[in-house]
Amino acid sequence: MKIQPFLPVAEPDLSGNELNYVSNCVRSTWISSKGEFIDRFERQFADYVGTKYAVSTCNGTCALHLAIKALEIGAGDEVIIPDLTFIASANSVSFTGAKPTLVDIDNNTWNIDPDKIVRNISQKTRAIMVVHLYGHPADMNRIMGIARKYKLLVIEDAAEAHGAEVKLNYPIIQSTNNSKSKKYSWKKVGSIGKVGCFSFYGNKIITTGEGGMVTTNDEKLAIKMRILRDHGQKPGRRYYHEVIGFNYRMTNLQAAIGVAQLERINEFVNRKKEIGRYYSQNLKNIPGITLPPAENWAKNVYWIYSILIDKPFPKTRDELIGILKQENIETRPFFYPLNKLPPYLSSERYPITERVSATGINLPSGVNLEEKDILRIIEIIKNI
Ligand SMILES: *Cc1c(COP(=O)(O)O)cnc(C)c1O
Repeated sequence: MKIQPFLPVAEPDLSGNELNYVSNCVRSTWISSKGEFIDRFERQFADYVGTKYAVSTCNGTCALHLAIKALEIGAGDEVIIPDLTFIASANSVSFTGAKPTLVDIDNNTWNIDPDKIVRNISQKTRAIMVVHLYGHPADMNRIMGIARKYKLLVIEDAAEAHGAEVKLNYPIIQSTNNSKSKKYSWKKVGSIGKVGCFSFYGNKIITTGEGGMVTTNDEKLAIKMRILRDHGQKPGRRYYHEVIGFNYRMTNLQAAIGVAQLERINEFVNRKKEIGRYYSQNLKNIPGITLPPAENWAKNVYWIYSILIDKPFPKTRDELIGILKQENIETRPFFYPLNKLPPYLSSERYPITERVSATGINLPSGVNLEEKDILRIIEIIKNI
């Protein structure tokens, strides 16, 4: 039997100007955290997301931690987060001494449930961290409404959703005066809350190897994050440290790869969307398979195409992972509910998270997958 090619869940495409720009850093010896690519990457990423500022960091977890620190959230405070997410969302809150309050997800979006947010707001709640899981935005219209009503900050963990969009149904405050005509405009995730946090890990929509970014429209906050990122050093005053900061800087090498990746981000996002549509067209109407969220107010970028496998499908999720593995196809189960992990154990019930987590599977979604590769996966699933 002919061995079929290996199909990974995600792999980066570095075939553009990446090598060229990295060589430039090496030849010029600007390989540390100063250099032209850092400013360029920050400027261009802010423009892409649609915010005034972007602050680069050494990875996505640092981006979240830096943002939460700069917002002065810490011991005694609570931050509401979804129970279904990668652990870095919760850990970045814990690092500051604040407590993550876990909230169940919504059946339709697989993201934090706005109704359940309201029930979990306490005197100590300072912020809501939304996570745009697997590329589909959280319900930002309702969440921003709740945040305004209860005077909470909104932190967007957009690590999995570069380029995903939300159709906002409230007037957007623009620097120009024509906000009336912009009433129902589409906005990219990471530009809606107080801050947006991105990751450029190797499997994310664009990569810098390791890397992260915080986007914001708040100038003071951006300045504060730049200080905290650089050991708390006051700009223009060498070795004068005003506060306890971190070394969370991105290197010029990372930023060089980032600039090259940004040149192709629209191509990557469009390809992900195409792959998502192709899977969904072919997997719809199969009993026991739930397709990923596709709300009409949202544009899913299908970072990783994901489905739920449940009865009456003849195999369980874990059995399907095994079958695909034998065919040289890599998949992943969904994240565990945070409430089931030792650092965040809870006796509360999170029924939707638990069901989605136990039945969810990530399928190969790399931008270089060909139609025939996807068809091979679809055929295996259909034959079951
Ligand atoms: C990848 C990811 C992060 C963390 O990013 P790193 O760059 O790996 O530190 C945070 N949150 C979510 C939801 C992620 O998927």
